[in-house]
Amino acid sequence: MSDHYVKVKVQLEQMKTLGEDAGRQEGDAEEQLPASSPAASVSPDPSSIISTSIGSKPRGKGRTKQGKDVKNTSQHAPDVSSHGSVVSAHVGKNSNRLEHDPSLHIKGTGKILQGKSETNGNCVTNHASKNIQETRREDGFKLARRRRPVTVDTSKAKTSLEALKISIKQLKWKEFPLGRRAACDIYWHGVSFHENENIVSGQVNKFPGMIEMLRKINLSRAMRTVQELFPDEYDFYPRSWILPEEYQQFCTQIRMVKENDATVNPTFIVKPDGGSQGDGIYLIREPSDLKLMVGSQAKQGVVQEYIQKPLLIDKLKFDIRLYVLIKSLEPLEIYIAKEGLTRFCTEPYQEPSQKNLSHVFMHLTNYSLNVHSGNFVHSDSQSTGSKRTLSSVLYRLAAKGVDIKKVWSDIIALVIKTIIAVVPELKVYYQADIPPGKPGPTCFQILGFDILLMKNLKPVLLEVNSNPSMRIEHEKEVSSGVFEYVPSPVDEEVKVGVIRDTLRLMDPGHKKPSGKSSQPRAGGFEHKEEIPLEAETQDKSSDEGALPSLCLKQVYPKYTKQFNYLRLVERIATLFIRFLGVKGNMRLGPTAFRTFIRTCKLSSSNFTMASADIFYIDITRRWSGATTDSREAGMGLQAFVEAFFSLAGRRFKSLVQREQVLSLLVLCEAQLESQSGGEDRRSVSCSRALPRAVKTQTLGNPQLGSPAPLRRAASQDYRLHQRLKPRTLRANVEN
Ligand code: ADP
Repeated sequence: MSDHYVKVKVQLEQMKTLGEDAGRQEGDAEEQLPASSPAASVSPDPSSIISTSIGSKPRGKGRTKQGKDVKNTSQHAPDVSSHGSVVSAHVGKNSNRLEHDPSLHIKGTGKILQGKSETNGNCVTNHASKNIQETRREDGFKLARRRRPVTVDTSKAKTSLEALKISIKQLKWKEFPLGRRAACDIYWHGVSFHENENIVSGQVNKFPGMIEMLRKINLSRAMRTVQELFPDEYDFYPRSWILPEEYQQFCTQIRMVKENDATVNPTFIVKPDGGSQGDGIYLIREPSDLKLMVGSQAKQGVVQEYIQKPLLIDKLKFDIRLYVLIKSLEPLEIYIAKEGLTRFCTEPYQEPSQKNLSHVFMHLTNYSLNVHSGNFVHSDSQSTGSKRTLSSVLYRLAAKGVDIKKVWSDIIALVIKTIIAVVPELKVYYQADIPPGKPGPTCFQILGFDILLMKNLKPVLLEVNSNPSMRIEHEKEVSSGVFEYVPSPVDEEVKVGVIRDTLRLMDPGHKKPSGKSSQPRAGGFEHKEEIPLEAETQDKSSDEGALPSLCLKQVYPKYTKQFNYLRLVERIATLFIRFLGVKGNMRLGPTAFRTFIRTCKLSSSNFTMASADIFYIDITRRWSGATTDSREAGMGLQAFVEAFFSLAGRRFKSLVQREQVLSLLVLCEAQLESQSGGEDRRSVSCSRALPRAVKTQTLGNPQLGSPAPLRRAASQDYRLHQRLKPRTLRANVEN
């Protein structure tokens, strides 16, 4: 096969492929809404790219959303013929470049060709030609991809739609407001992974299971598991008790605290499990004030230590809403938005007393509550008003001499550690919904972290929202009783940046190699150092020239060295998933549990297979409660983790808990490794820095740290299973 023939064939193939692509694009354009449709709006106006980012788009007061979109559509409805011609122009360009740019077709194959043709004539020539063809085709695809706008299905975007549209326009990507028959590159869902069923490719902006994982009870459980192993590292999450099952424990512990020191008068905040925006939240000082029942049903929720001394600005309590992107679970990739929001209370703060416990505008920073206070200040400025940018608050603190680098570095650490705590369960959900080897999309997700700064500047995690509101308008009472959505420049500034830059990072044309092989494995080693607060250097592609630099900063794997040793539960989850057997399961059956015990050689004369069976039944029964759904029967990850901790305790009695768990992990992994031929060796060096004693931890009230025996007893009790029931999905949460 001559070189010339190869070239011509490749070109023909590429033209055919691109022609098909062009045809598909035309077909897609037909699938778009008619020009009069309110939702279709892809502005081709490049001059608007920068200026629209900071709220400069004229968005008249009192207009309806629909009205605005209609206007956009009629001005900028995508033109089928011009779109088609753009694509055919690309074909011409691509083939020209392939013809004249030698680096494109020789790259990566020349050496192979030269090296092998000397020894292995024809056969290698054919092989090499194939390589050339493939490389050329790949390069052709890349070129075509670079020119074909990334497609985004926005049909399920809900309240993110406005900010998403602006972002897509800025990127000059292609929006499909009604969805599309062919696959899109990106699917933007307003609430959950499952909104568009049967997606088999592309990327979805939600992970399966994230909503369930971040509900108050599950987050508290996940945090508690890691607090057991790493109490000092996870001391940023207030001590919490799960209701109703830990009510007795809560009462006992508070009584003991008060008996020890009569001057201590802690306050607690009670939060319903599925609540958001401050709904159903109240403060108490006595366990007897807990409202445990709704009618005849026990209320599910958490009661949490209340942080009594928050940092105040202008005498007001405030919290931080930080946007965090999980770009990938495997390998774990986390980005943090450099800009966030701060939400202010509207009544001057006083430490809780019996008199002011019910003053929500003093104690709760939720926007959705405070917006209804007469004192709420809507401001177009980013540094005044009841909602401000995070940077304006940090500047203000810096001006007062606060070490904001330290604050920011603590916040980054809090975010990474929290994500490390929830990743194990997320991985279980992920493999159940998107089993490896089956076609499916990949996922990413923007989370909203709510963080409170204590008076001593220590950040405290309040909660993580799986659906942070991306609304860029706020409700305003324009006349008595008449509310209207008006543009909110502060929200637009922050949220459009976050969505646009998330899209940029997820751009399928700009995917970097995942770096899987170079990634240290979960729990690999430990090395602590300060996290620098530096400006992120980002490589920008040429098409991104007009865009501002990324507002999202990579923090993981960047800080892997500092945090990787915390990923122990993830390693337990890896074992769990391995023994789940049938793909799509989330629970271990008794046989799979037996296989785990046998394969990892955990049975002995003291722990026979019969006792393993009883152990399984015992733990599973406590965790599963009364389930009517047979698919949910079996041992879930949380129960497995409890079983694992317990087995580790029996086997390595003399060690502290973290070392026990680590030692058992190493043992299990070694057994599996020896059976699977040596791949996947786990590093054990994290045991080096394990402290000998496990300290109890607490935030505001040191007295709340329970004595060790009680803690141990508690650890048995407090993981009593709260079944993952499907509940109403939370709408996007502004708080
Ligand atoms: P929701 O999801 O209903 O907004 P949060 O957990 O975010 O529930 O709590 C609502 C508000 O209550 C927070 O924004 C914060 O102002 C306040 N808050 C929550 N937990 C604590 C706490 N442990 N200490 C002090 N204030 C808290």
